[in-house]
Amino acid sequence: MSALWPWLQPAWRQLQESRRRGQLAHAILLRGRAGFGKGQLVSALVAWLLCDHTATREEACGQCRGCTLLAAGSHPDLLRLAPVEPGKAILIDQVRELEGYFALRPHYGATKIAVLEPADAMNRAAANALLKILEEPPAGALLLLTAERAERLPATVRSRCQQHVLDRGPADKILAWLAQRGGDPGANAEALARAGGSPLRAVEFAEPGLADAIDRLPESMAKVAAGTRHPLSVAAQFSKMPWLVLVDQLLRLCHELLLLKYQLALPLAEAGRRQSADLQRMANELDSGRVAQFVQKALDLKQLKLSSASARESDLAEAVWFDWRSTGQ
Ligand SMILES: [Zn+2]
Repeated sequence: MSALWPWLQPAWRQLQESRRRGQLAHAILLRGRAGFGKGQLVSALVAWLLCDHTATREEACGQCRGCTLLAAGSHPDLLRLAPVEPGKAILIDQVRELEGYFALRPHYGATKIAVLEPADAMNRAAANALLKILEEPPAGALLLLTAERAERLPATVRSRCQQHVLDRGPADKILAWLAQRGGDPGANAEALARAGGSPLRAVEFAEPGLADAIDRLPESMAKVAAGTRHPLSVAAQFSKMPWLVLVDQLLRLCHELLLLKYQLALPLAEAGRRQSADLQRMANELDSGRVAQFVQKALDLKQLKLSSASARESDLAEAVWFDWRSTGQ
């Protein structure tokens, strides 16, 4: 499939090959950090499987009855489960919907698909209900699960899924893909390093001005913690920074602050060296217990954002800066 990102191709070919041999598992778990395109692979697979021409095409045709129903959001052989509210769990009653859904035969092809995204949002009761389905999968059932933190799923659920890990894209393929989008090779390599190897994050990091804005974060953190700048004013200053970049950078800086506080070695990142003077001053003054509390709050906000497209970035940015201010009071 030409539009699929290159680092997803190996998993995509493997899934298609399994399907052609009639060996596609009843449950597939796509796992890996954010920013590698788990959602894109799920969408491509769902579209291909529901297309009327799956047997003869390598990608969905976009025009048949199956493709049209999918595009209209009304394909009867597809059910998506997600948290009903931002930041909440996928609940047992939602998983029980699957029983009735799978009890009916497929309307068109031979497969009925359920997508659980993100599956690691299931609470324990929901996961146990899912386990019952996985233990005796109905004929024609295909469960597609995605998880950024797959270790949250019970081992019994994981072991019944065919697992694909999607966060080890080869750097040369990712850099070639970034080069096609523009930017010089050095800047792309730095963006990829800052993004922790995640291609989609690297695209954000390659935005003009973003690296400079990231370098200014420690100074603003120090001022907010000291009470000399207001959280709302700093949130406005960094309003162009994508929220997930902001929170990941704040988390990275908290990690470095704690290393500095206890005089441990810093990772030798370029950004770390440029920011080290501001960081060292802040590290000397900060209360590590409050920083740890901030880290937990920031991770909770991140979970909220990842499970809800409707959470507004500007609200989240203000929330995270107010949380940061409480480390200094
Ligand atoms: Zn089609």
